[in-house]
Amino acid sequence: MFRVISISRKFALAIAAVTLPFSPLMAQETVPAVSQTVSPRAPRLIVAISVDQFSADLFAQYRQRFTGGIARLTEGAVFPSGYQSHAATETCPGHSTIMTGNRPAHTGVIANSWIDQSVTVGSKVVYCAEDVSKRTAGSKDYVASVGNLLVPTLGEWMKRANPAARNIAVSGKDRGALMMGGHDIDQVYWWKGKGFATLAGRELGPTALAQNAAITATLAKGAPAFPVPAWCARQNRVVQAGKASVGTGHFALKAGDSDAFRASPRLDRATLDLATRLVDEQKLGKGTVPDVLSVSLSATDYVGHSTGTEGAEMCIQLTQLDAALGDFFAGLDKRGIDYAVVLTADHGGFDMPERLQEQALVQSSRVGDDVSAAALSTALGKRYGIEAKGLILSDGPAGDYWLRNDIAPGLRGKIIDDAKAMLMTSPQVEAVLSAAEIAATPMPTASPETWTLTERARASYNPLHSGDFLVMLKRGVVPIAHAGAGYVATHGSPWDYDRRVPMLFWRKGMTGFEQPSPVETVDIAPSLAALIGLNVPEGSFDGRCLDLDGGPGSTCGVPR
Ligand SMILES: [Zn+2]
Repeated sequence: MFRVISISRKFALAIAAVTLPFSPLMAQETVPAVSQTVSPRAPRLIVAISVDQFSADLFAQYRQRFTGGIARLTEGAVFPSGYQSHAATETCPGHSTIMTGNRPAHTGVIANSWIDQSVTVGSKVVYCAEDVSKRTAGSKDYVASVGNLLVPTLGEWMKRANPAARNIAVSGKDRGALMMGGHDIDQVYWWKGKGFATLAGRELGPTALAQNAAITATLAKGAPAFPVPAWCARQNRVVQAGKASVGTGHFALKAGDSDAFRASPRLDRATLDLATRLVDEQKLGKGTVPDVLSVSLSATDYVGHSTGTEGAEMCIQLTQLDAALGDFFAGLDKRGIDYAVVLTADHGGFDMPERLQEQALVQSSRVGDDVSAAALSTALGKRYGIEAKGLILSDGPAGDYWLRNDIAPGLRGKIIDDAKAMLMTSPQVEAVLSAAEIAATPMPTASPETWTLTERARASYNPLHSGDFLVMLKRGVVPIAHAGAGYVATHGSPWDYDRRVPMLFWRKGMTGFEQPSPVETVDIAPSLAALIGLNVPEGSFDGRCLDLDGGPGSTCGVPR
């Protein structure tokens, strides 16, 4: 079923009518040609699912327990070692790779947030999915935008080839929906506050309003706890992280508690319900050309951050996610849609140090305050006799760091060298790399598990947004100095527990297989493009086409 059919000349002429050039609105000299040859055997709907923080480790741990939607996908083309290969394994960069086929170095989305010292309104911290030009002094709220994404998504390529193609995205987070959908997006919704919202200037359609009404009704009356699966009994145990007690949460919902709704399996169920409603509203998969529906499911990440990855909470979350996905796919089946699915994650994850230490990983720890930008600023300001406040800027205790832009060019390299020397005295710091070192490194081409730390950083480096130097903590050091309610564990490191994610492809009737060798999430877009006969210009992807047919056929077509 997954095979690309070579078409007859007669049929090629017949389908020429649906083969259109790139958007006529753009100047011809900047417009790469894109065309699509829609085989009658091509799926009519691409369903791209990102399960936020669904690491390859969680997939391995729960794989034999799944009976619903994820179990179905394990009958397809299974890549258990997919890589979000870059260093900054955060939500925004991760989502930016999945549908663009490009690493953050090219998507421009180098982190969830970065420092822009030219910003004159409010903080210098810019959120990846923010239109910073729309900031107002009195506004507590940013204007959501995909303007920082520098490359097209698969949905945009599809619309350039065939404007009739529908490009739809839904998520529990704005950055999840926007980075998968891209700029030219027909409908986009994400969770905000107590229901789903959309871009400024757009109205919520009747479908989103109906979904929000259903959520409001649930919130008004609350909901009972979820059962703990019998095989999770050993995980149902309290562990203390600072003032937070975690491990035995079962997600009983108090009436009106929208934050608890968000950090629970109910968020994913609501996101999938909205996706199903949009399938009907937009008649997805029923047209003459393929459509794309991107679904980013955020609850696994909220559960991971608030309770870690190895408590009863994660067990319940993944059990409920599997069930909700099973119902979602059954709904698509019932509608008679010929669809192909990919499920992956924006990054992996790591448990909280307090439980890791009990469970044989004694070297795990929380980062100390000594590697913070504030501590560096104080020490270096004193050493050089310059204003310490804001001398070094960062958005957290690891990742990109910036030097204040009023520092003279002749002094900058020296201060960075000193910062590096000071940081390297910390037993928690693995490496400090200057922007110059990273930029001088060629983009890696070998298999991602073999990359050096500098190569991982190179895949995250974009001169428009990246810092002056990059701090990498040692394996097992969690960049949350002080655990608190709702935030005990995280991801974002260059280590494989945060880089490795499953990549599962499925279509009814396909010849499934397991390929344990590493692949990359940037391979997803070129693989799906080939599956639907979309001819994207050479050089548009960092990734490569994966042949999704486990038999002698190929879904990658004729090599160009
Ligand atoms: Zn994430």
